[in-house]
Amino acid sequence: MLDIYADLCERVLAIPVIKGRKTESEKFAGAVATYAIEALMHDGKALQSGTSHYFGDGFARAFGIQFTGRDNTLQTPFQTSWGVSTRILGAIIMAHGDDNGLVLPPAVAPVQLVIVPIAAHKAGVAEKAAELKMSLGRTFRVKLDDSEQSPGWKFAEHEMKGVPLRLEIGPRDLQNGQCVLVRRDTREKIVCPLDELEPTIERLLEDYRNSLYDAALARRESMTYDCTDLDGFMSTAATKPGFIRAMWCGSTECEQRLKEVAGVSSRCIPFEQQRISEKCVCCGEPAKELVYWGKAY
Ligand SMILES: [Zn+2]
Repeated sequence: MLDIYADLCERVLAIPVIKGRKTESEKFAGAVATYAIEALMHDGKALQSGTSHYFGDGFARAFGIQFTGRDNTLQTPFQTSWGVSTRILGAIIMAHGDDNGLVLPPAVAPVQLVIVPIAAHKAGVAEKAAELKMSLGRTFRVKLDDSEQSPGWKFAEHEMKGVPLRLEIGPRDLQNGQCVLVRRDTREKIVCPLDELEPTIERLLEDYRNSLYDAALARRESMTYDCTDLDGFMSTAATKPGFIRAMWCGSTECEQRLKEVAGVSSRCIPFEQQRISEKCVCCGEPAKELVYWGKAY
């Protein structure tokens, strides 16, 4: 399940995640093991974005759950439990949003393209805008904003709502058989011939997802710090929001101490391990595993 959640986050929502196992003290109480995907938000705080737990047969025994096996004897099941929740909506907002509002990944944007007619009172503009809404609406989630507001007001409104693409069409565009497409994330303007709209929008939406992902990944990497001694760990935790990667001996005491002196918790023991030093960042004893540490929501 964790792989499915990671795929949802990365491919659909364009949020890169770290896959790993929780430490004993961070795992779900009573579980044999807890696995999680961790994402980094704009402000450098970590958000646990999905979990899966292996329960063993502990809960089944505690609640008296049994079944009759193929051999006709009573048996106790081994269980798993997993979930993502509405916090994933928070992740979308906090991983991609900017000072102008939401930035939504195209796959889940309720409106993927908003059409804003310019000088809609001029001959043919409103009609063409309505026609584009009809034709593009067969392939994309399209809104036509033909309200009385000014174009500038509409631009800001739909930017705030995170609509990935805006299509502007005015009298001069009509004459030239073209329109202007504007990306919400980069604000890049693309002049597009009307008869090439559909493939262009399709390509732009795909690019859009890719650049959201790349930007989030670059941001995460620029906010991830490797620490090999306690002083460096503490000053990094105090001054640099983000993930800290550090080696750990596996003891709960060291984990607790790091929480007390640096205010961070262990986020996960990543499946993709790397040895950045041989010693525990806290006690200096031989290190067992690399751990991601951070401040969490
Ligand atoms: Zn230690």
